[in-house]
Amino acid sequence: MNDATEVLIVGGGLHGSSSAFHLARRGVRATVLEADYVGRHASGVNAGGVRTLGRPLPEIPLALLSREIWHNLADLIGDNGGFVPSGQIKIAESEAELDQCRARVALLEAQGFTHERVIDRDTLRALEPALAPHVTGGIFVERDGYALPYRTTTAFRLAAQRLGARFHEGTPVTRIERRGQQWFAHTPTGTFSAPHLVVTAGAWAADLARQVGEPVPAHPEGLMLMVTHRVAPFCRATLGATGRPLSFKQFDNGTVVIGGKLIGIADLAGRHGEVDFARLVRSAQTVTDLFPHLRDLGINRAWAGVEAFIDDELPVLSRSRRADNLTYSFGYCGSGFQLGPICGRLVAELVLDGHASLPLDAFAIDRFEHAGHSDATHAPVTATASH
Ligand SMILES: Cc1cc2nc3c(=O)[nH]c(=O)nc-3n(C[C@H](O)[C@H](O)[C@H](O)COP(=O)(O)OP(=O)(O)OC[C@H]3O[C@@H](n4cnc5c(N)ncnc54)[C@H](O)[C@@H]3O)c2cc1C
Repeated sequence: MNDATEVLIVGGGLHGSSSAFHLARRGVRATVLEADYVGRHASGVNAGGVRTLGRPLPEIPLALLSREIWHNLADLIGDNGGFVPSGQIKIAESEAELDQCRARVALLEAQGFTHERVIDRDTLRALEPALAPHVTGGIFVERDGYALPYRTTTAFRLAAQRLGARFHEGTPVTRIERRGQQWFAHTPTGTFSAPHLVVTAGAWAADLARQVGEPVPAHPEGLMLMVTHRVAPFCRATLGATGRPLSFKQFDNGTVVIGGKLIGIADLAGRHGEVDFARLVRSAQTVTDLFPHLRDLGINRAWAGVEAFIDDELPVLSRSRRADNLTYSFGYCGSGFQLGPICGRLVAELVLDGHASLPLDAFAIDRFEHAGHSDATHAPVTATASH
């Protein structure tokens, strides 16, 4: 099952599809192996937030560049993914929370980042007049927005296929191994091989990294979302809160999607997430505190998707430190949709150039060894890879 593939990609979420696209764009034959179907998990069911606001510092250069791609996505892949540049606001509900916002923006400005802006109460209420009067201000990022997750992931997949990438759905990789100059990915329907391997397996990726002797302190969570019935337009921006979990947006069709890293139940072995309705009630309370006129609005649907979290809340985007020609991109901690377009490009650079055009040290797979998470019993699979 070789087909002269040069790069095998394990996992057909947004990151696998974007990696396949960017590799294909550079003339490389990539094959994606997907256990279920493309976009089945986090990449197809997330809240669609295209948010640079509130990112950890090491992610900001990636998020800013990714956002520029979002604004021109149709030029790149022939579909804009339903991207709406709605702006994103992080709301403060007290003076203390507004002070936190000021401190955050001051910290960013000291690092040379000017994309987040503090706004006062009047500006906030001018932007979103339906907000409850107790709000005190917040942080505004005008060029952020939201998009449609399944459409975006599918668009990357189709664009990759047009350039020659292959996708095999219903093809779970049970074991990876390197022999000679080739990687082998074993599946129930046969073994695939190629000189390069990329692991973009989301919440399941850490298992594959462990097979290579690179343990990562990762755990899955079932993140929940709910969508309301239609209601007359009242909110333009995508909203978050400073003091409590919230992600909130109203679509053009009037429905409101509510989330914000709400933890439900992740069933990794069963490959699905489940809703914890008691926890959703708390989130609904946040929404009605901010928008009292929604008190009687019905919830149409709720769901949960399985997402990979890493203890230090940063992804792994890195060449392997133990095996040749192995690249990882996973563990996006509830914020990887926005990063999908740029991270695929960075994966292609890591695979083909051995290094990336943006600083990725904070995302190295061996960073946990220095933090005391090392599993020293594993020997390298081959000679140390070049980075
Ligand atoms: C409810 C929810 C809301 C979210 N909201 C946002 C948001 O608003 N903004 C944002 O930026 N991010 C958000 N995220 C996070 C974002 O969805 C993820 O970070 C991103 O989609 C991760 O993409 P991925 O390709 O790494 O993983 P996934 O989409 O999980 O894809 C990994 C794929 O690998 C496959 N796979 C796993 N193991 C194997 C194997 N052994 N063999 C073959 N295939 C395998 C899986 O079946 C899966 O399809 C949210 C996530 C959830 C769940």
